[in-house]
Amino acid sequence: MSVTLSIIYLIATVTFVVGLKKLGHPDTAKSGNLIAAIGMALAIIGTIFIHDLEVPTIIYVLIGIAIFIGSLVGWLIAIKVEMTKMPELVSLFNGFGGASAALIGIVEFGNADIKNIDVTIVATILSAIIIGAITFSGSLMAWGKLNGSVKSVIKIPQYNIINNLFIVSILGLATYVVLGNVDSSLILYALLAGGLVYGVLFVMPIGGADMPVVISLLNSLTGIAAAITGVLYDNMVMLVGGILVGSAGIILTIAMCVAMNRTLASVIFGSFTSAASDQEGGNKALGSIKSTTASDSAIMMNYASNVIIVPGYGLAVAQAQHVIHELEDLLTAKGVNVKYAIHPVAGRMPGHMNVLLAESNVEYEMLVEMEDINPQFNNTDVVLVVGANDVVNPAAHNDPASPIYGMPILDVENAKHIVVNKRSMNAGYAGIENELFYNSKTSMLFGDAKKVLTDLVAELKNM
Ligand code: NDP
Repeated sequence: MSVTLSIIYLIATVTFVVGLKKLGHPDTAKSGNLIAAIGMALAIIGTIFIHDLEVPTIIYVLIGIAIFIGSLVGWLIAIKVEMTKMPELVSLFNGFGGASAALIGIVEFGNADIKNIDVTIVATILSAIIIGAITFSGSLMAWGKLNGSVKSVIKIPQYNIINNLFIVSILGLATYVVLGNVDSSLILYALLAGGLVYGVLFVMPIGGADMPVVISLLNSLTGIAAAITGVLYDNMVMLVGGILVGSAGIILTIAMCVAMNRTLASVIFGSFTSAASDQEGGNKALGSIKSTTASDSAIMMNYASNVIIVPGYGLAVAQAQHVIHELEDLLTAKGVNVKYAIHPVAGRMPGHMNVLLAESNVEYEMLVEMEDINPQFNNTDVVLVVGANDVVNPAAHNDPASPIYGMPILDVENAKHIVVNKRSMNAGYAGIENELFYNSKTSMLFGDAKKVLTDLVAELKNM
């Protein structure tokens, strides 16, 4: 590799690390993204133009066309996508990353003299194919589940045993190819198909509130697949980029596991809860609910000393982040102590609420993580829950039959008064009833979050 290309790769690698570091805080995230993107552009340009190969002009033209189409499609999707659809887009991107790795693996298997090369190279090629295929089909499943087009349909008993046997068979077959230097296209395509089927089997039964763990795991698999292709091409920048994505994804997966009270082993091999919407008892008679008005809720908050706001997915749907900030400013100006309680899986992607509230310039210090805010609910006069449901569902504590049983939640029921804003009595992502809404301390403030919060602001301004 030429010295110039090595230097370019080194610069690109540094930009990835710096970019990732800067993504850790909302104030620096934008510049971090830009820095890493510039590094990536440098690496791509360097790879295309700096080499010792005789490349016909037509290849450059084809690469140019592919980059143009890819960039145009990516740009169009990125400017059009709504914030709440971002996790679906990320799932698709993950899937395409996996597909690239699998395709590279297939091409390399064809190019290599399998019978005579080192087993580690065969193992690397097969890893790219299997992990890439699992990531591709698994991510497409995740995309379908997030947008609601794929339901959790599997109800076979011992499903996980079947699933685990399937992956063990794939690994067994791959080991046979590696150890025996078996040059068989048939087995190669069987492994590819096996990976694709396993990706579907793996994600299909996951439901309830467990999707965040799977999404970050798939994200990490994309990085691992990219890193493996970096090994195949002896390409440092691909390797480092892949390792960064893979390790960041694993760290996030573990953080999500902790947040969801699952172990990583149970995520990979164990039994996920089936889709909660499949659970029985969704219409259990839980008592009656109490509705309230914006005016009454505003009075309650106006005379409160401590108010905690719990944002959830509905806040993002309503795009009410600016008006909620206005509400918080108003209350603060009236001497009320206001905080936001942030559940790690609120919304539809890790950090969703942080990103959403940062968009409206809510002070980062006002966002309090679950474990820090939970002890504070006891001393809170009013909790305002806006478009959150699963993350405040006491069934996680009280109902061992619930698909979210064991998941840590925000203990809002410990507050003196709870005001819940949502549009109807419909369930949240996990598809289950929420007994919080029937609590004698709870008042339901029905309506679209933006409209309701605007009304609350208007009422408070008149007080
Ligand atoms: P939920 O999905 O549990 O509930 C959101 C609530 O918002 C719904 O009950 C809905 O009720 C209400 N809502 C929707 N639109 C509006 C609107 N315009 N105005 C007011 N309310 C609205 O959200 P949570 O944030 O509590 O929990 C997140 C869930 O998503 C968890 O189960 C989590 O596991 C899962 N998940 C999280 C991911 C992550 O990484 N964060 C990724 C994938 C899944 P109604 O229709 O009656 O208005």
